[in-house]
Formats: sequence, structure tokens, C-alpha cells
Amino acid sequence: MPTVSSGKVLVTGASGYVASWVVRTLLEQGYSVRATVRSESKASHLRTIFSAYGDKLEFAIVEDMVKVGAFDDAVKGVDAIEHVASPCHTQADDPDELIVPAVNGVLHVLESARDYGASVKRIVMTSSCAAILERHDTPRVFTEADWNEQTLSDVKLNGRGADQLSKYMASKVLAERAAWDFVSKHKGEIGWDLVVLNPPWILGPVITEAKNAESMNSSMNVWYQIVLQNAINTKTEGQSWIDVRDLADAHVLALQKEEAEGNRIIVAEGTWKWQDWINAARICGVKASNSDSPYDAKKGIHYIAFDTTKAKQLLGMKYRSRQQCTTDIIEDFKARSWI
Ligand code: NAP
Repeated sequence: MPTVSSGKVLVTGASGYVASWVVRTLLEQGYSVRATVRSESKASHLRTIFSAYGDKLEFAIVEDMVKVGAFDDAVKGVDAIEHVASPCHTQADDPDELIVPAVNGVLHVLESARDYGASVKRIVMTSSCAAILERHDTPRVFTEADWNEQTLSDVKLNGRGADQLSKYMASKVLAERAAWDFVSKHKGEIGWDLVVLNPPWILGPVITEAKNAESMNSSMNVWYQIVLQNAINTKTEGQSWIDVRDLADAHVLALQKEEAEGNRIIVAEGTWKWQDWINAARICGVKASNSDSPYDAKKGIHYIAFDTTKAKQLLGMKYRSRQQCTTDIIEDFKARSWI
């Protein structure tokens, strides 16, 4: 399949944390972008911050991607699609509040691309390490061969009573599976290929229109609460992470690298515990949360880690450091007078 190194790219959920960086990175690299947002008012902030790019940026209103045919017009004439939109929070009562938009959202993108996307060559989907990892009481390194079955069992058995994270994680497993199944079922009818990116926690500066720290997206809101507000007592817990700007680069590289075709790719800088971020914030000279207990980063046990060989081989991924990420977050928060 030819790679997409220029032309017009459709980005879904452009008013979101990750997608706004994907839009920015595409524009910086010379692509034109058609950005989907749910209302005209959600487009106005993006019009302002990207005004220098003029008519290289256009908008398509997709109020609700659950509706059949939601992307039929949006896919027309684009060379590639970055499907980033999906509900990303842990506040759902019924798991279907997350699962239905996640699964139907991606299926509707793929159906529209099949039926109306004659010029589309590649679709990149933002999945998650949530679709891969399972919680264990012994350390484990996960690879792209792993699928999170654990979370599906929790949601199936417990429904509304399932763990909040399980509801979100199940939506990512089911959406990614639906995408791969669609491609395999419709192989003869589609002129494009699929690449799936699986990032863990995504952190870094915010360019969306957040009026206050609490209205940032979920992952950055949790970072703010734990690292700077001493709000949640989980400082020795951790996982793995990627800087949002590196993830945006990965989305563009996934369009450009022919060999990425048909792959799910874990993109992750490395492991952390909350205390590592608190230490990094202190180096920036801000008042960070109190430590739970002394923590030696070199001796810390990480129960969930990821093999990122594929991202290096297929995309040539390079990652910002935790300190760089923290410094840039703090600068951003200071500029917004949040700290
Ligand atoms: P976000 O800021 O909440 O962005 C989600 C976007 O999806 C928003 O633009 C939202 O629009 C849109 N959306 C949700 N439901 C929709 C619907 N029914 N119809 C149309 N648009 C809809 O979250 P994010 O952190 O950027 O997440 C982006 C992607 O990264 C998601 O696929 C998420 O699962 C994945 N991911 C995130 C993390 C993380 O740590 N943040 C980690 C791994 C993977 P509105 O805001 O207008 O509702």
C-alpha cells in the first residue's frame, strides 16, 4: 500500500486532548487536515490556535459518531484517516455508555471509508494499552500478541457494578477487535489498510480549550490531582506512559511508514510510579504533593510493562523524557495561572 506523505487527512475527535496534537503535528508537517468536531462552537478554539495554517485546516461536524453514516461526508476526498475519537473517562454507569460509542464509532468510520472513501489509503486508529494489559500480582511485560480478556469478563459478569477502569478498558478491547474483524471481513472491498496504535497513559501539555485544570481530559486531570494537589493517595502505584507530542508524531509516522501496514503497535516511553512524577515536578521548583513513602526508582517493582521493539522497528519511535514532559506541563500550567 502506498504511504501517505502529503495530502489531506481526516482527524476524528479533533477537540480532544490527543487529536488536537495530531492535528497540530500534521499541519506542521505540511498536510491539510479535515477535523471532525461535535459542534461549531468546538471548532472555534481550534480555528484560533491554528489560524496561521489558513485553509489547510477545515472542519466537519459529526455530532455523534454512534449514528449510522456519521462519517459518510467527512471521508470524501481524504487521503488518510486518523481515528482518535472515543469516550475516555471512568465515570460511566452502564458500560455501554463507553462501549457503544467506541465500537460504533470505529465501525462507522470504517464503513464510510469503504463506501465513500475512494481516495483513502490508510486508516490509523488510536487504541490503547488498555486493550492489551491484564492486572497481575507478579511483574509482566506485555506485547502486541496480548489481549485484555480480564476486563471483558469483569464487565460481562458485573455489568454496571464492574470496576470503572474495566468499563473503559472493555470499550477499547471491543473497539479494536471490531476494527480488525471489519478489515478481515471486507478485505476484497477496501482500498486502504489499517494501523492501530496502542499507547499507555498519555501525558504532556494541553492545547485544548481547558478553562481550568479540572476541565482537562481525564489522564491530565488525574496527573494534576495526584502530582500537584495531593488529592489521591496512590503515589506508589504506576504504569507506563507516552508524551502526547510523541504519540502525535507516532500517528503521522504511522501514515508514512509502509511497513506499518496491518500492525498493532505499542508506543510507550517506559514505566513510572506517581512518585516519579512528583519528584520530577519538584525539580521544576513547584510545590508538588507530599510523598507517601520514600521510593527508590531503581528498586521499584513495575507490575505492568510493555515491549516497545515494534514501535522502534516499524516507526523509528523516539521519546521525550519524563523530566522534559513534566517541565513542559508545569510551564503550560504556569502560563494558564493554574499554579
Ligand atoms: P478526550 O480529550 O476526551 O477526547 C475524546 C474525543 O472523542 C473528544 O473530542 C470527544 O468529543 C470525542 N467523542 C467522544 N464520544 C463521541 C461521540 N459519541 N461522537 C463524536 N465524538 C465523540 O480523550 P483523549 O485522552 O484525547 O483520548 C483520545 C483517544 O486516545 C481515545 O481513543 C482514548 O481511548 C485514547 N487513549 C487515551 C489515553 C489517555 O491517557 N488519555 C490513553 C490511551 C488511549 P467531545 O469532547 O466533544 O465529547
